[in-house]
Amino acid sequence: MTKPEILYMVVPCYNEEAVLHETAKRLKEKYQSLISRELISPDSRVVFVNDGSRDKTWSIISELHETDPKFFSGINLAHNSGHQNAVLSGLMTVKELCDMAITMDADLQDDINTIDEMVQKYYEGNQVVYGVRSARDTDTFFKRTTAEGFYKFMKVMGADVVYNHADFRLMSRRVLQELANFREVNLFLRGMVPLIGFQSCEVTYERAERFAGESKYPLKKMLAFAINGITSFSVKPLKLITSVGLIMSVISVIAILWSIIGKLLGSTEHGWSSTMCSIWFIGGLQLLALGIIGEYIGKIYSEVKARPRYIVADFINDTGNSQYSEHSGGKES
Ligand code: UDP
Ligand code: MG
Repeated sequence: MTKPEILYMVVPCYNEEAVLHETAKRLKEKYQSLISRELISPDSRVVFVNDGSRDKTWSIISELHETDPKFFSGINLAHNSGHQNAVLSGLMTVKELCDMAITMDADLQDDINTIDEMVQKYYEGNQVVYGVRSARDTDTFFKRTTAEGFYKFMKVMGADVVYNHADFRLMSRRVLQELANFREVNLFLRGMVPLIGFQSCEVTYERAERFAGESKYPLKKMLAFAINGITSFSVKPLKLITSVGLIMSVISVIAILWSIIGKLLGSTEHGWSSTMCSIWFIGGLQLLALGIIGEYIGKIYSEVKARPRYIVADFINDTGNSQYSEHSGGKES
């Protein structure tokens, strides 16, 4: 094989003090084994992105970097920007330093042993390698049904996502450069990466339970994430409004004819309940339609403002110097 290439891991961390030491330990073991087998270059790094945590996450990252600058780097975001933005900030910061990058959650739910296979697939010519969950036994019944329902619903709504794939994936430097050209503010990486294309493949792994700490994705955030995914990738809901509107118009023509005939036949008083029903029904439908349109207008609003998606406060890498980066939000590449 040719010279081993440089792998950077990007690990977003939000209040992860409970798991970080363990994650770092396991990643270091994995790196040592990959380096000794000459699968990756000794210049490979693990980059922890601190997404505005309120606990000791950043001090743990700085400490890891100080004790082991050849393994661990850190990015400190100026404020909490959310999982997707944190991942993107990491990828955009390292895109010129690595040959391939893997994104992985900090909580060890993604199986670290899959990294070997991902790297192997990269050398076989794949530019993107998706980590796909084989089983969801460890998730609660509720999480499993809502998550699987989410993937199916996304498909029906016209957004092309890889089934049961979250954000555990390998991307080549080439793909990262293309990703940098996606300027949208409403990020949904698992919908964006398939749009880039190139040769890709999937590897399956068993998703474990969170090692420690609790999920940062409560139901409310999960719902928001799903709505964001759909409205960022599909205009089907807007088209649906038109279809429902058309069907309702046809029904109302029939209803008008029916009431005129009723009037002509002289039996009009009994219409109270049907009138009430249709007022409520049409009212509800209109509000729903307005809500869906509102979702898209909200999107246009935030895209037009084009605010930075994240702001990097510090990037500590290798030399131990803290480099202050003026580059904010990846609005320039
Ligand atoms: N995360 C983040 N910013 C946030 C929320 C979460 O960087 O605002 C990180 C978190 O630290 C973790 C990953 O995103 O590494 C996934 O979050 P979590 O494990 O809580 O989600 P779940 O697996 O329960 O869906
Ligand atoms: Mg998790």
